[in-house]
Amino acid sequence: MTLRVTIWNENRHEQINPAVQKLYPNGLHGAIKDGLDENGDFAITIATLNQPEQGLPDSLLDATDVLIWWGHQAHNEVLDDTVDRVQRRVLDGMGLVVLHSGHHSKIFKRLMGTTANLKWRESTDKERIWIVSPNHPICEGLPEYFEVEREEMYGEHFDIPDPDELVMVSWFTGGEIFRSGLCYHRGRGRIFYFRPGHETYPTYYNPIVRKVIANAVRWAQPLQNGPKPVYGLGFWNKPLEPLPAE
Ligand code: ZN
Repeated sequence: MTLRVTIWNENRHEQINPAVQKLYPNGLHGAIKDGLDENGDFAITIATLNQPEQGLPDSLLDATDVLIWWGHQAHNEVLDDTVDRVQRRVLDGMGLVVLHSGHHSKIFKRLMGTTANLKWRESTDKERIWIVSPNHPICEGLPEYFEVEREEMYGEHFDIPDPDELVMVSWFTGGEIFRSGLCYHRGRGRIFYFRPGHETYPTYYNPIVRKVIANAVRWAQPLQNGPKPVYGLGFWNKPLEPLPAE
């Protein structure tokens, strides 16, 4: 089955920063899409903030197996209604892959329940990403560690709930470390947070970064035939086995 992937990008830096425009002439979403195309057979839709319904009408969410999220400067422009609708889909089983500065997106904070604050520095750091769960499906085909030559530094403490699975940890030239590959389960949905991807660096052209995102999409896909619990009055009070007499 071909996975249906929607790449959502706020698409703002690309419009106003010539350096980002030059680096990502087809937008960050364009490079992320090319990386997926290199690593699998995905049916990909591009969605951006300025489109009707902020790029995410119900008709598209209903036809999305995994949603990728890149946002930074326009987090506050994402309407609570959009966040509500995405959250509902995640709880219902849609996968969500949150990239880089998406840590401060409304949807990620909603699903985490914390501030998702962290330390950061835009300088000349190199990022070295260590795989700490080598048997995890997201690590399929990865080396023991890989490096991104220039990246924005994100440092601990990262104010998030303990992840269900910690897959990657980053080290930066300045000495900081950061939990950079995180898996969460919320409702019937799976969420992966992946740290690299600052807009002024060519990170989304890195072949290993691209492979991680493709692996994460496969991992986050919804179960096609999983159980669908039924909640509500009228079910909870009927025992499955006869109860002992009083
Ligand atoms: Zn950044």
